[in-house]
Amino acid sequence: MSEVLRAVKGMNDILPPESARWEWFEAKVRSLMQRYAYRNVRTPVVEPTALFVRGLGAVTDIVEKEMYSFEDAMNGDRLTLRPEATAGIVRAMIEHNALYNGPLRLWSQVVLFRHERPQKGRYRQFHQIDVEALGHAGPDVDAEQILMCRALWRDLGLVEGRDVRLELNSLGQPNERLAHRAALIAHFEKHADALDEDGRRRLHTNPLRILDSKNPAMQAINEAAPRLIDFLGADSLAHFDAVRAVLDAAGLEYRVNPRMVRGLDYYNLTVFEWVTDQLGAQGTVCGGGRYDGMFEQLGGKPTPAIGWGMGVERMLLLLEAVGVPMPPAAVDVYAIVPGPKALPVALTTCEALRAAGVSVQMHAAGAEGWGSMKAQFRRADASGARHALVFGDDELARGEVALKPLRDAAATQRLVALADLGTWASTLTA
Ligand code: ATP
Ligand code: MG
Repeated sequence: MSEVLRAVKGMNDILPPESARWEWFEAKVRSLMQRYAYRNVRTPVVEPTALFVRGLGAVTDIVEKEMYSFEDAMNGDRLTLRPEATAGIVRAMIEHNALYNGPLRLWSQVVLFRHERPQKGRYRQFHQIDVEALGHAGPDVDAEQILMCRALWRDLGLVEGRDVRLELNSLGQPNERLAHRAALIAHFEKHADALDEDGRRRLHTNPLRILDSKNPAMQAINEAAPRLIDFLGADSLAHFDAVRAVLDAAGLEYRVNPRMVRGLDYYNLTVFEWVTDQLGAQGTVCGGGRYDGMFEQLGGKPTPAIGWGMGVERMLLLLEAVGVPMPPAAVDVYAIVPGPKALPVALTTCEALRAAGVSVQMHAAGAEGWGSMKAQFRRADASGARHALVFGDDELARGEVALKPLRDAAATQRLVALADLGTWASTLTA
């Protein structure tokens, strides 16, 4: 026998029944996007490496150490498996002049790749729901995007405040960050001995990133660092206040967290994270913010923009952790077919039921043949179907089939006429 091959470390197979949770979650997301009038966008998984270096900033965790970059063996192009969604979408907008007719609200479900240390809630291939509003400068869309998240929590059965909490900050504008940066460097220089290796390296390249450190040894020195929010001018503060006013009016509680800088260079003004206590160190399930400078950074016209990314794996872990019930199996009917003689009628009946919207799983012959009725009923039970439809020879001779409820102990089997399928089919769907 040949050696068994395994998936790449940190990259997961998503199999049934777990995949049903994914579909359930994705349906909730699609409904949300439709209600908020966000339109779907899909961009390539592979992009030029330069897109991420320019879009995200060279001195970021992702670009410095997490990207899957490679050279195209055919032509030597420098390519990267996308580590985040926004840069690719912005590139597509610029390339196709897609904002020609005005602003756009877009969403995407993306697969992303980051070379991290795999652990619960942190993988090398993972998925995000990504939302972007392009061309809107005002605090109104900032608030809308945060409220969208709350609407999703409610649709999913999560309780905000208990299961997920909002943290909010403002990163101001580039000139304000420059003044803060000088103060930050002075602070870290004073405590240079306490800096870890990353910190020392970033002290003069990107000191704001030091605040983003996950190293517990860096907590104290970061706590004492000058706060960016104290360097904001009147316009930035007004923008922040306007976002907060909407959230307050909507009754959404949040904590202003002046230490939250987000992992990427491109953010300005509003930044936010939805966090949970349920997932240990992987406590951020959704993060986002404004990135008004990115279009220019990537060679486009100045265009205000804001977006968020939600980790799908972490969301599903959270739903499981707080005990949100998942949907029951989607199969309505398991068709029990005693043997080849019944097959033509059984198959056409299954087709008619499916055309009427009923979900039907047909018993198909395995390597050992059809299997006994008992074995078929065992399969029917395991399928999660609510009914068994039995195509017995005697009943078929009379133009009938037996319909047996599988989940309701009190209900009894009855005979239904094939000719009346239109009337009883509708009683079988959930
Ligand atoms: P973290 O601080 O946990 O590394 P991040 O700031 O790098 O997160 P973002 O780039 O903002 O994360 O991505 C948004 C969301 O995507 C995160 O809040 C998280 O839910 C999810 N996410 C990020 N990295 C991973 C990963 N390696 N595996 C699974 N989900 C991830
Ligand atoms: Mg990260």
